[in-house]
Amino acid sequence: MKAAVLYGKEDVRLEERPIPKAGPNQMVVKINYVGICGTDVEFFRHGHPFYHEPMVLGHENSGTVSEVGEGVTEFQVGDRVLCGPPAHCVEDCPSCRRGETNICINGFPRTAGIGGPDGGYADYYLVRDVAHTMLIKVPDNVEFKDAVLFDVICVALHGIRKSDFKLGDNVVVSGTGPIGLSAIQFLKAGGANKIIVLGTNSAKFPTLKEYGADYCINTKECADIGGEIRSILGSPVGADIVFECAGQPDSLLNCIHQCVRPGGQVMIIGTIQSPVTLSPGNFQIFEPDLKSAFVYTADEVRMYLEMLAAGKISFPGMVTDIISLTDCVERGLDRKDRTGMLKILIDPSL
Ligand SMILES: [Zn+2]
Ligand SMILES: [Zn+2]
Repeated sequence: MKAAVLYGKEDVRLEERPIPKAGPNQMVVKINYVGICGTDVEFFRHGHPFYHEPMVLGHENSGTVSEVGEGVTEFQVGDRVLCGPPAHCVEDCPSCRRGETNICINGFPRTAGIGGPDGGYADYYLVRDVAHTMLIKVPDNVEFKDAVLFDVICVALHGIRKSDFKLGDNVVVSGTGPIGLSAIQFLKAGGANKIIVLGTNSAKFPTLKEYGADYCINTKECADIGGEIRSILGSPVGADIVFECAGQPDSLLNCIHQCVRPGGQVMIIGTIQSPVTLSPGNFQIFEPDLKSAFVYTADEVRMYLEMLAAGKISFPGMVTDIISLTDCVERGLDRKDRTGMLKILIDPSL
């Protein structure tokens, strides 16, 4: 089979490997789609932060179970499944005991395509320990192409569920990638009053409006973001809740200093890898609540699949390209022209 293997910074090699065999408590999944995540791009650009052996990338996996090892009882050959982050422990760590498996202290090293040798940028993926891994069955009437978007969409879902968002709130979403787009749709479905979106690429604004944005502000062209937001809201203060979905330092600073009303909330959903300089005294006097959210739980993925199956949500236009494993660097991880790009999927059969 083919597998795209990360060896280090800007070093991904396409290799021919034997199809894995399932040992006890293991399972093999034939991958049909794997999403290219911003995390994969980070690993490609900078190297993996803690795992230094060759690893197959890919944590946004969908496919069909092709082999189950001895001792696996919950899955059968032919089951349609998702496999992704976060893995969790069976040692019953304090986070897992509270049901917060997304912040399991043992989860990361067990997560597909993130903490170990195996991931979904391949024809087949070996699930090394079924009990430790997030595996979710996909309902028959949900297409894999929609189901496989679970990673970005459930990040938004979890962030909103963890926030203090209430029906009728005025909200700002900073970021126009797949996570921002998902957040807009959930906020609209949840009854937000005005949804204002901050982005840097006006070409995406028509899509954002189709998803539910009421107003879009191009932060590169707007000299007074706070003033613009207050004018849209017809209020001397900013939005009730601001969702940082861009994963950029400037975006977080805008959220805190320009967008949120006194006593409102800034929810950090995007993953910001660079340092951010904050002067707490400048915003502390207005008591904004800074909160963060990380990935999602298995229950939230099931919730997403149920809403998809019932036709309550849909994400048209989210997938902007489907590429082969051979093209995963040039047209994926190292893609130069990212204009209008949202989610790229790899189909290993291409
Ligand atoms: Zn991801
Ligand atoms: Zn745990």
